Amino acid sequence: MTSRQHLDSELCITEDGRVEGAPFIASPNCDARPAGAAIELLVVHAISLPPGEFGGPGIVELFTNRLDSAAHPYYATISDLKVSAHLLIRRDGGMVQFVACGMRAWHAGASSWRGRERCNDFSVGIELEGCDAVAFEDAQYGRLAAVTRALRAAYPIRGIAGHSDIAPGRKTDPGPRFDWARFYALLEEAPARG
Ligand SMILES: [Zn+2]
Repeated sequence: MTSRQHLDSELCITEDGRVEGAPFIASPNCDARPAGAAIELLVVHAISLPPGEFGGPGIVELFTNRLDSAAHPYYATISDLKVSAHLLIRRDGGMVQFVACGMRAWHAGASSWRGRERCNDFSVGIELEGCDAVAFEDAQYGRLAAVTRALRAAYPIRGIAGHSDIAPGRKTDPGPRFDWARFYALLEEAPARG
């Protein structure tokens, strides 16, 4: 067995669950998955910090416990949170990884998928930089589809859900502007040959 999964010139996942080529900024907000837990679910999120603003350092600061509670009124309400996601896809499609997929990131919170609770145990969480009011970018759909294909090749993923699907009433992301049909259509496209 080789140390990584190669996918036609698309993205590769290393054995410990890093996306090759993605900058890695370690989040302390993670721990081991329960013994025997397989990665069976991909959870799509959206986040922007401050809300509705893109491109700033707030998301990285939140996931690394460095958010300055005085920097924005909203930050005072979230700066004590200990949260993370495995991956963030920026507006331009750039990707940052915070937690290796072999580890449990803290992205879902209280959640349930097909009757199973604690979705963090068995999922990978991907944040799209975005908000409810603004359409996501082409580059984000393309990158999300590419990394989803790579994750599906590396892990026994059985489903894809939005955060709002596994925490209804508590979470709304990725929100009404995320085009699920478009995402699924991209997923079914054959990856580029090369
Ligand atoms: Zn979320």
